[in-house]
Amino acid sequence: MARSAIISGGGIGGLATAAALAQRGWDVTVYERQSELRAAGSGIYIWENGLRVLEALGAYEEATEGAFHGTHFEQRDNLDQIIESAPIASDKRLLTVLRSRLLGALKSACERAGVKVVTNAETIGATASGELLLASGQTVRADLAVGVDGVWSRVRQSLGLELLHEQTREGALRTMIASRAGDFAAQDVGKYIENWNGTRRLLVTPVNATQIYLALTCLQDDEARNLPLDRQLWIDAFPRWAHLIERIGDTLSWGVYSVTRSRAWSAGRTAIVGDAAHAQPPNLGQGGGMAMQNGLAMAVALEQAKDPRDIPSALQAWEAAERPLVEHCQRWSILYGEVTCLPDAVRSQVIRSAMGDAWVAGQVFKAANSSPTGTVAPRR
Ligand SMILES: Cc1cc2nc3c(=O)[nH]c(=O)nc-3n(C[C@H](O)[C@H](O)[C@H](O)COP(=O)(O)OP(=O)(O)OC[C@H]3O[C@@H](n4cnc5c(N)ncnc54)[C@H](O)[C@@H]3O)c2cc1C
Repeated sequence: MARSAIISGGGIGGLATAAALAQRGWDVTVYERQSELRAAGSGIYIWENGLRVLEALGAYEEATEGAFHGTHFEQRDNLDQIIESAPIASDKRLLTVLRSRLLGALKSACERAGVKVVTNAETIGATASGELLLASGQTVRADLAVGVDGVWSRVRQSLGLELLHEQTREGALRTMIASRAGDFAAQDVGKYIENWNGTRRLLVTPVNATQIYLALTCLQDDEARNLPLDRQLWIDAFPRWAHLIERIGDTLSWGVYSVTRSRAWSAGRTAIVGDAAHAQPPNLGQGGGMAMQNGLAMAVALEQAKDPRDIPSALQAWEAAERPLVEHCQRWSILYGEVTCLPDAVRSQVIRSAMGDAWVAGQVFKAANSSPTGTVAPRR
């Protein structure tokens, strides 16, 4: 008889975990708090590691159809001078996709694998014996329970796994605008462009042929984060991109960055995955990649366990194998955030000398360049 799994949370990590388990023969049900599976945010960067996970789950084609595939990642200073322009090697892909498209692709993979999804189903607690307690008063149980319920994870909290949950001083306003001919000068085409001015940052990234993803980041107490958006304030900071900022609509919301660390990623036969276990600031664009990566790795660890009945030991082995990379990625993502509060000229020097150093660049891109468990080397 198929082993059963129940998953709290139908976001990027929850659906990747569900698909990976179901593809390995598990009978999987996802319990999602919202009334439908819905992606928060607009665009998302997916690096090589995350793309390989999507390939392994059979979700790559749908998720990346028409996606922007840039050739350079560029940082610019307050005078619109290039600080660093790093080429992205062709075998280390970075794509930007619509979050809704990514979630849709993972949902399709789940449907093909027979995953059941229950919406309007909020988890309020969990036990180490594979149980989820739902707000409706129902308790559901299975051979395996997984909390992929985001930064405020009730599963993590109720199992006593939380070591740290804090929010950084920085946050982001994210939006999508329609692109127009001539938006990018010839020298800007094909680039992910991170523009800095003081503690404000504007990320300009096409997501496909018709839309551009803008992320406006600043400190919590900066008036620039107030809504409705003071467009002029952002135009004054980034005049080079005035034509894009003018087009920002009113559907912005402020997103904070969370960092979560957990004592362990499981208790008994209940695990936590993704932001629930290890959220990180988005400076390296790896939170979603790591969530999908660890969901797949967990399914593989359970499949390869010497004794398939010993789920707790398989979960511990999974954590031991995957945790070092996650913690590395968290550390370097937090470290990158430190440049936010440096004076402009100092920030430029730091970025230039750090990213120009092969060792530092290797650390920054370590997760992006990894071959996640359960994936195969890309076909070239
Ligand atoms: C500004 C910003 C930019 C980012 N950019 C990138 C990027 O470019 N690339 C990247 O890889 N990552 C990025 N991230 C990080 C990425 O969004 C997260 O790491 C990723 O969404 C984590 O996936 P998850 O499934 O673990 O959690 P979530 O995406 O938060 O999904 C959690 C799901 O669980 C549901 N849920 C919550 N509580 C309950 C409950 N009690 N019961 C039932 N369901 C529940 C939620 O409704 C949701 O559907 C960014 C984050 C931010 C804030």
